[in-house]
Amino acid sequence: MTIDENGPICRCGNRGCLETFVGSTVLLGMLAGHGHMSLADIITQAEQGDPGCRRVLYDAGQYLGVATANLCNLVDPEIVVVGGQLAEAGEILLGPMRTALEQRTLPSAQGPPAVVPAALGAWAECRGALSVALDLARANGALGVTV
Ligand SMILES: [Zn+2]
Repeated sequence: MTIDENGPICRCGNRGCLETFVGSTVLLGMLAGHGHMSLADIITQAEQGDPGCRRVLYDAGQYLGVATANLCNLVDPEIVVVGGQLAEAGEILLGPMRTALEQRTLPSAQGPPAVVPAALGAWAECRGALSVALDLARANGALGVTV
């Protein structure tokens, strides 16, 4: 999703993609003065009050809010569930995301969607993949389960 049509070149060849603003490599690069860090380190240090780490996550939340607002204006969901490692930052990320989303969604009777962290955390993709595999196996009779 394009965030800035004149933004940095993305690995996909386009300019200003969301990834060029919130990708983990980009976030880590913004904190080069902090030494070698992981995304988990950024989150931990932000929680401990490091202003640089807090700012990086705040800005990422704003960009995610802009991107999500574009999607919400198309499909008008009731809720936005945020998963992945970055979501482990909690309100440090979700607060600015929610604000940007509220500022940019079209007015609707039900208001902007709720923004909540994913309940499955870091295992969401794995559980989803297993669920799909089980559904396919059942559909093909591979499990020998009769319902
Ligand atoms: Zn791209």
